Amino acid sequence: MKPPPFDYLRADTLDEALDALAAAGPDARVLAGGQSLLPMLNMRLVRPTILVDVMRIGALRTVEARGGALEVGAAVRQVELERRADLDQTQPLLAAALRWVGHAQTRNRGTVCGSIAHADPSAELPLALVALGGEIRLRSRRKRRVVAAETFFAGSMATERRDDEMIESVTFPLRKPGTGYAFREIGRRHGDFAIVACAALVDATSARLAIGGVADRPVARALPLPGPDLDEALDGFAWSLEARDDIHATARYRRDLVRRLGRQVIEEAARCRG
Ligand SMILES: Cc1cc2nc3c(=O)[nH]c(=O)nc-3n(C[C@H](O)[C@H](O)[C@H](O)COP(=O)(O)OP(=O)(O)OC[C@H]3O[C@@H](n4cnc5c(N)ncnc54)[C@H](O)[C@@H]3O)c2cc1C
Repeated sequence: MKPPPFDYLRADTLDEALDALAAAGPDARVLAGGQSLLPMLNMRLVRPTILVDVMRIGALRTVEARGGALEVGAAVRQVELERRADLDQTQPLLAAALRWVGHAQTRNRGTVCGSIAHADPSAELPLALVALGGEIRLRSRRKRRVVAAETFFAGSMATERRDDEMIESVTFPLRKPGTGYAFREIGRRHGDFAIVACAALVDATSARLAIGGVADRPVARALPLPGPDLDEALDGFAWSLEARDDIHATARYRRDLVRRLGRQVIEEAARCRG
């Protein structure tokens, strides 16, 4: 199928993009890497009347470490972050998660912020952002606001972003000394969206586990350190998520992966504490 007709604006400045979003409201869509939006247009799952291409806006092309976090602008492609030589050191969880996002070809085009905006419940970058306690910086013609990742995702492909807002950048907290990080997922084939994905952070006193692919959004919870109480806590976490059956896996299999993969990533993160 082909998409319904739409206007196309290649914005050169942030103001130009924000003006277009303010004028068109729900009829506009930001176009970033196009890796999710173009298939949705072709399948006529969305019918915007105007696409606002933000990839030529220089101010959105920056990656900066400041205030203990890595701030990634809206026009930064996934491959640009993946190729940062220091990412394994500065944020190992993000580095590990990026390798699971689609294929080299999709990472060459897709942006980090586009994946966050798209909010697929099985996507790796929203999960990493929630696990790390990151933030989303939203901007409209009228104002700027910052939303915590844990409250930004509102359901499957639904977020707290308003129609006239775009994501200007997202911030991933940097590695903390004494904390270990790990990321794993199970999918049918390499490059597929996860059936279940797990991200863990472990320090001297506590563990935090975030799960993607089970509920309608990524969910994080504080859990005990590896030891006798962990299995029961993981079981409680697995049952608290509204798992569903679909063509890829049953809800029961997903809950089982939360227990098993969850324990593995927590143990791995505990071993990686530097
Ligand atoms: C074959 C294939 C396999 C894939 N596998 C995976 C996978 O395993 N894991 C995974 O996570 N993803 C996967 N993807 C999706 C890929 O990661 C996309 O790159 C990503 O979801 C969207 O990023 P994008 O920059 O391409 O956004 P686009 O497709 O341009 O936009 C996606 C949505 O986000 C909105 N948007 C984009 N940027 C902004 C912004 N700055 N502000 C507000 N709204 C914005 C758009 O309006 C649109 O609604 C796959 C894609 C393909 C084609």
